[in-house]
Amino acid sequence: MATSAPPAPPAASRAQLIHIETDRRLGHEWEEWSGAPLPGGGDFSAPPGLFFRFAAVTIAVAAAVVAAVVYLLAPRLATLWAPLPTVLWLGLGAAVGLAWIWYGLLLASFYGGTSLLPERLLERGPYLQLMNLTSQVARAFHRRDWVEHAAIDVYNTLAVRRGRKVGKGELLVLIPRCLSKQAIDGVLAIAGRYDVPVFVATRGQLARRVIRERRPRAVVAVACERDMMTGLRDVAGKLPVLGLTMRLPNGPCRDAVLDLDVMEEWVRGWVGP
Ligand code: SF4
Repeated sequence: MATSAPPAPPAASRAQLIHIETDRRLGHEWEEWSGAPLPGGGDFSAPPGLFFRFAAVTIAVAAAVVAAVVYLLAPRLATLWAPLPTVLWLGLGAAVGLAWIWYGLLLASFYGGTSLLPERLLERGPYLQLMNLTSQVARAFHRRDWVEHAAIDVYNTLAVRRGRKVGKGELLVLIPRCLSKQAIDGVLAIAGRYDVPVFVATRGQLARRVIRERRPRAVVAVACERDMMTGLRDVAGKLPVLGLTMRLPNGPCRDAVLDLDVMEEWVRGWVGP
């Protein structure tokens, strides 16, 4: 937040003056933002089915791209070792078959209410890669934020279901710099009730440093969908994380609001009795 030293304003105009002087520093994920209001008032809520549809397209596209590469290289590869193209086709067929079986297990786990794979083979394993690849495909259709929101919801549902418990000193709450004052007050009240530390991470890099230094056993992180995707990709494989996305009624990187009830439920779930 940029500050200057103007003469003290009359009390009645102070709130407005603070608002005008707020410097909106965009996170790099939002650098291309035009300044126009975000669709839906910055609420990118979307049903899980949206992610699953895009994820299926992503698996099909990835298989087609690899198949095209093998097809194009096959004549050259055959000069190295005649059976090599056949071996690659068989390997690709097996990999694609496994990918679809895994995708079926993901669907059954999510909608069936019972995780059919351990977390390393599900939400804290291949799911993180699928989530990020799917985000790339969704960008081509201008549906990135909604698909990411749905992907993060699916991830959280699977992660919450594991029913983990950690000690109060072992949980870390990470919040971004863009929360509204009301949201920050709400987060601090929850942290105070459950006696858990809160850190404001101004950049993803700093968030990762805080995690390295504090060595928590679990994290509740708050961020917009775009920032949450990179955070989960980098951290969730190493550490249990729940990711709470926000609404951005005033555009990106300022005055974000969040669902405090969900945050309290997650914190209580992890450190409560
Ligand atoms: S979390 Fe907030 S500050 Fe960071 S990129 Fe998203 S909107 Fe901007």
